[in-house]
Amino acid sequence: MVVVKLKPFEEILKALEGFKKVFIFGCELGSGRCKNGGLREAVELGEKLKEKGFEIVGIKSPGGTCILERISFPGRELLKEAEKNSEVIISLACGAGTQLIAENVDIPVLTGVTTLFIGAEREGKYFNEYCIACGDCIISETGGICPIARCPKSLTNGPCGGAIDGKCEVDPSIPCIWYLIADRMEKIGTLRKLKIRAPFKDYSKSVYPRSLILEEEA
Ligand code: SF4
Ligand code: SF4
Repeated sequence: MVVVKLKPFEEILKALEGFKKVFIFGCELGSGRCKNGGLREAVELGEKLKEKGFEIVGIKSPGGTCILERISFPGRELLKEAEKNSEVIISLACGAGTQLIAENVDIPVLTGVTTLFIGAEREGKYFNEYCIACGDCIISETGGICPIARCPKSLTNGPCGGAIDGKCEVDPSIPCIWYLIADRMEKIGTLRKLKIRAPFKDYSKSVYPRSLILEEEA
């Protein structure tokens, strides 16, 4: 999931200077899951903005603001409503969702969040970066653990040698991911594979922007 973090209210207020009528979009997928931009946070933001004298003309939090059909269903009414009734849209969706809104309306669209990472969630409150969408996944060769996202130096050919007692030298609060990779591969009987050669990474596949086009089904 995409993990986002709400911007400080003062920063949102500053961005809204000069506007009065505000439409708020949340997103029930990533932003809602990490409790930093779903319907609840959108409503809370609306209340705080009202106290500051703003007019909140609408609040919507689709289940996937980065999906055009979800924000335009049915027939773009939602976007049209936001565009017609407000002077500005503030979006708590991830960077993709906010850009998708922006390219479909002709009024300013601001973000109320920062998009942090693609992460894994545990117990509804722990979110950890597991993937940076590098474009050439190598985790089949590293025991299903990503050294690119989870090593602060993104080392793909083994540890830097700075770990102390298995802890990362850059951030001692986390384990050195290469220790985890080695332990895991030993446990599942594939460590030999790692000893033969380090995973190759094709950085030519990491050039932005990337896209995916699905073939029509026959
Ligand atoms: S190797 Fe690349 S695509 Fe695979 S999990 Fe890591 S960052 Fe994501
Ligand atoms: S100690 Fe391990 S996780 Fe930390 S930077 Fe070095 S190789 Fe990466």
